[in-house]
Amino acid sequence: MELLFLGTGAGTPSRQRNVTSIALNLHGVRSRCWLFDCGEGTQHQMMRSSVKSGKIEKIFITHLHGDHIFGLPGLLTSRSMNGISDTMTIYGPKGIRSFVETTLSLSGSWLTFPLEIVEIEAGEVFNDEHFRVTAYPLTHPVECYGFRIEEHDKPGALDAERLLADGIKPGALFQQLKLGKTVTMEDGRVVEGKAYLGPATKGVTLAIFGDTSPTPAASELAAGADVMVHEATLEAAMEEKANGRGHSSTVQAAMAAKQAGAKRLIVTHLSSRYLREDSERLLAECREIFPNTEMAHDFSVFRL
Ligand code: ZN
Repeated sequence: MELLFLGTGAGTPSRQRNVTSIALNLHGVRSRCWLFDCGEGTQHQMMRSSVKSGKIEKIFITHLHGDHIFGLPGLLTSRSMNGISDTMTIYGPKGIRSFVETTLSLSGSWLTFPLEIVEIEAGEVFNDEHFRVTAYPLTHPVECYGFRIEEHDKPGALDAERLLADGIKPGALFQQLKLGKTVTMEDGRVVEGKAYLGPATKGVTLAIFGDTSPTPAASELAAGADVMVHEATLEAAMEEKANGRGHSSTVQAAMAAKQAGAKRLIVTHLSSRYLREDSERLLAECREIFPNTEMAHDFSVFRL
């Protein structure tokens, strides 16, 4: 899996940072992409990256502020003009349905693919064969969520050599054994799949925050996460201003990662007041508290 940042700026686009959108490329897991937020211009950023709109399976919207959703109508209609027919699901707070349906109907737009819109509340968003996604409420002037994405542990590889040595021939049985099931053979022998599986691989856990001032939900949302993505809108000296608008400072993002026991922190959602040359200073503020911090820039890729 990898995280590709399409936009890393807060509020308004700047020459160096577009407004928020993060792509999670699932690659091997199911060759699909999930988007987290879709600020204005996200489809333009996609054209300059490896993200293809046809591959987007789900879009998670943290909150309805414009810098997180104004890219949605354009992205959806372009996807249709490209003739994509795969279903897409949008998850977001109450109101996301009205926003999408209103913009599409007022502009006389139509979609070539089934679009599901799920208005979420705090709690489990979905749980399928690969992932469990849970929404946590954050502290922001409008309803806003952070998402905890837990990949299920992957079963270990089947020891085919040992199976053959024990006289169990490849075929349909192997598929059952691979799933760890117990199978009765034609000769009456009972074979336990689990006995032939290597150690399971631990699934990856990600915590992707929406906009927030320091919030009690952080410790659970990001508990032990392999990667935590958190906003750092302003520098430490401007903490009060950041918090007054429902945002966090660099140091507060790092504190949240430390308290949650996250393994790695990526900060994003930087104010447009900051230029590229400010990055080192802002990053240093985070690293003083949480050394394993990186800063996302537009088109940054982080492998998980
Ligand atoms: Zn916001």
